[in-house]
Amino acid sequence: MTAPQPAEAVGIDVGATKTAAVRLTADGEVSARARCATPRRTADDLVAAIAGLVARVGGERVAAVGVGLPGMVDARTGALAFAPGLEFARAPLRELIEEAVRLPVVTDNDANAAAWAEYRLGAGRGHDHLVLVTLGTGLGCGVVVGGRLLHGAHGFAAEASHLTVEPGGPLCECGRLGCWGEAASGAAIGRRGRQEAAARPASPLARLLGEGGPDAGAVVTEAASGGDEQARAILDRVGTLTGVGLAALANVFDPAVMIVGGGPVAAGDLLLAPARAEFARRLYAPGDRPPVPVLAARFAGDAGAIGAALLAIDCRR
Ligand SMILES: [Zn+2]
Repeated sequence: MTAPQPAEAVGIDVGATKTAAVRLTADGEVSARARCATPRRTADDLVAAIAGLVARVGGERVAAVGVGLPGMVDARTGALAFAPGLEFARAPLRELIEEAVRLPVVTDNDANAAAWAEYRLGAGRGHDHLVLVTLGTGLGCGVVVGGRLLHGAHGFAAEASHLTVEPGGPLCECGRLGCWGEAASGAAIGRRGRQEAAARPASPLARLLGEGGPDAGAVVTEAASGGDEQARAILDRVGTLTGVGLAALANVFDPAVMIVGGGPVAAGDLLLAPARAEFARRLYAPGDRPPVPVLAARFAGDAGAIGAALLAIDCRR
């Protein structure tokens, strides 16, 4: 009799525009990938797209599916309560996906999934207390406490995007001013870039942004890495505001490490050095506690999908 093969899992990351899928081996290696546009209008369309991705990357050893969703997920039922980028809400997505793929399904917030990826296999490995923030279309946050994801009473914990980091700053979709996700996300870098370009239309940054590309935040990040001073000033400001938020979270959760992920982290110290400096200024009693490193995430675009697959594997144990 042969020993049973260790299980593999499919991880899905539902993003604002793209939905990505990976198949993860029991060793944590990505063995297949696929992606599609995110259907945002109805839950049925999204479930069909997810089932299609599972069929494309899956295999006979896949024993479970994990799905990271861009919003608030009920930790008890796995239903989606609300997602700002989707046109529907209050959908029993875990159940619907399970019916469609005929495998056990785990759903969670996408940033929680990314935090789990960093905890299990990434920059947070070996640390049972960590905070991850990811700078993307919005700002995601996941918190690991004592080796477990923090879900709160309902599953809605760690919505750090709506911490005020810039009083009087830009208007957020929640109706308030200066929320972290609005002031210092990947999208915020793009918005600040376009404002700079409008103010100085003859500048090199204005020319780069005028050449187009759907992701202005990525254009600004790349320009900063190439030495553009306007772009560097934007990353410096966004890094500083990120440090404000990181310090607030560290003061609340007392993590061993803080991890920053998302596309802008490609700029390295142009973003992380001002974040670390502001973090150090605001961390309470820094001289009387062990240092709390602010690290770049290991996983870039894959973190949500890999973390979702790991959650599916770990929840089966
Ligand atoms: Zn807000």
